[in-house]
Amino acid sequence: MAYDQENIFAKILRGEIPAHKIYEDEHTYAFLDVFPQTKGHALVIPKTPSENILTAEPETLGVLMITVQKICRAAMEAFQADGITLQQFNQPAGGQTVFHTHVHILPRFNDVPLGSHNGNMEVNEILIEMAEAYKAVLSK
Ligand code: 5GP
Repeated sequence: MAYDQENIFAKILRGEIPAHKIYEDEHTYAFLDVFPQTKGHALVIPKTPSENILTAEPETLGVLMITVQKICRAAMEAFQADGITLQQFNQPAGGQTVFHTHVHILPRFNDVPLGSHNGNMEVNEILIEMAEAYKAVLSK
């Protein structure tokens, strides 16, 4: 499968569609999932295009994981989370729906089950609040 420059995350990276950005550096970009499965559900993507980890360069995955750890630590503090679940899907059979490499960061809370993968779009005010919570920690 060739990389599709018109996928949603490529459009977010180019600024063609809005996103609740929480972090950006030279190599990576982190933003909220608009269909959150848990409070603070974030996505981390590399800026270098690739469909998924099957085709990404190892260097791309290296810088991606550095940001994943940064966002995980911020989520623990921002949401007083009890833990973090990471999810990463590859190819349709693996559950992938957007074909730009990404890692889901899911803050977890004791005794709270994870919501469904394709739930409802969160209201904008709540997304803004969650993004602000991340940014307050990440700007320290
Ligand atoms: P996948 O199923 O490929 O692992 O994850 C794609 C994720 O992108 C899903 O969790 C879905 O909720 C999220 N998503 C789909 N469309 C948009 C969008 O327009 N903006 C944002 N921020 N997330 C999206």
